[in-house]
Amino acid sequence: MSAPAWLLRGARVVDPAQGRDEPLDVLVRGGVVAEVGVGLDAAGATVLDVAGALLAPGLVDLHAHLREPGEEHKETIATGTRAAAAGGYTAVAAMANTSPVSDRAAVVRAVRELAEATGACDVFPVGAITKGQQGETLAEIGELVEAGVRLLSDDGRCVASARVLRNALTYARAFAEPVVIADHAEDPDLVEGGQMHEGVHSVALGLAGRPAEAEEVIVARDLAIARMTGGRLHLCHLSSARAVELVRRAKQEGIRVSAEVTPHHLTFTDEDLRDYDTNLKVNPPLRTAEDREALRDALVDGTIDAVATDHAPHAVEEKEVEFDRAPPGTIGLETALAVVLTELVAPGRIDLLRAIDALSTTPARILGASEHGGPIAPGRPANLVVVDPEASWVVEPPFVSKARNAAFLGRRLRGRVVHTLLRGRPTVLDGKVVA
Ligand SMILES: [Zn+2]
Repeated sequence: MSAPAWLLRGARVVDPAQGRDEPLDVLVRGGVVAEVGVGLDAAGATVLDVAGALLAPGLVDLHAHLREPGEEHKETIATGTRAAAAGGYTAVAAMANTSPVSDRAAVVRAVRELAEATGACDVFPVGAITKGQQGETLAEIGELVEAGVRLLSDDGRCVASARVLRNALTYARAFAEPVVIADHAEDPDLVEGGQMHEGVHSVALGLAGRPAEAEEVIVARDLAIARMTGGRLHLCHLSSARAVELVRRAKQEGIRVSAEVTPHHLTFTDEDLRDYDTNLKVNPPLRTAEDREALRDALVDGTIDAVATDHAPHAVEEKEVEFDRAPPGTIGLETALAVVLTELVAPGRIDLLRAIDALSTTPARILGASEHGGPIAPGRPANLVVVDPEASWVVEPPFVSKARNAAFLGRRLRGRVVHTLLRGRPTVLDGKVVA
């Protein structure tokens, strides 16, 4: 069955891959972009009047916990990818800390097959760096790469051993394909028992701290090992100003590193924890206003390459407990784009091209997701999102995600996904998930 034909008429096309930001029509036929131009003829296609909307390449998330296999009570590939589609995503990297851990090809294949059968967007399984994410012996990296994995991470856990990280970054260079080693950079000893950023607010709230230095020391170590090995390093969810400064200098030095930041670290600070809201308990923790400003600046100047959600669903009963017993994490796939539009684009902090670049084009490149991230050009797979930039909405259940642990719960955001197309087929049409 061939994909239907659509004429998306009159949207502001924002396409970072071509540096393009102008009103255009886009004709989609047979799952690919057929034509881009002004005043295109519908020629039998269904016309979607999207004047006043933004049309961009479908978003790409480098960091989502879809929880399947093993924790299907929190989320499944079916529900997580629908949440992704609702948020405008056409591709997500599924983190490896599932049960079993994605540390060998069989698990990767199982995730991919589930995604093909039940998913509403493309899923790129992340492989673990170490067996069982135990941090000791390297996972079957050769087998994982052969199975198509390009991003390896023990996320949820820092690669605590410098020797293991060295071996992983060295091994990653052995392949013809670019293979990226992604680290959750927090020193496990320094954050032991910590509940939130260590500072005046952790003292006032009586909660044990996770100091920013825990991130700083691991980022410094990881960058040194990336320099030594020449391996390709990615730093997950940066949270602190000093870590950002280390990455900035490393990039100037030519070290092969990329970095991501989450919408919640771009928005909240440790002061927002005063009501002990467990939805704001995240790892790494929310930090100071100064850190948040540094993250924003780094996203604007490209020191931080991408916005990634760290979508981390939990069951209601798991989060509705005392703060120090709640698991860390917030869902984020359904709100990431609107948060960036509301917090950064609307106040003029970042321009729309760079925002879409950080949400789609650059993460697609890091992930090796060549069908995603644009350019929006004839012959390219029609992985697209249409957004109403003026639509104002409040973040509240029901969510498309199985979970409801949203850091942004109750917040008013501006900008809402109208249509998402995956290879020309709508996964979201008129604001409703249809996949
Ligand atoms: Zn992490």
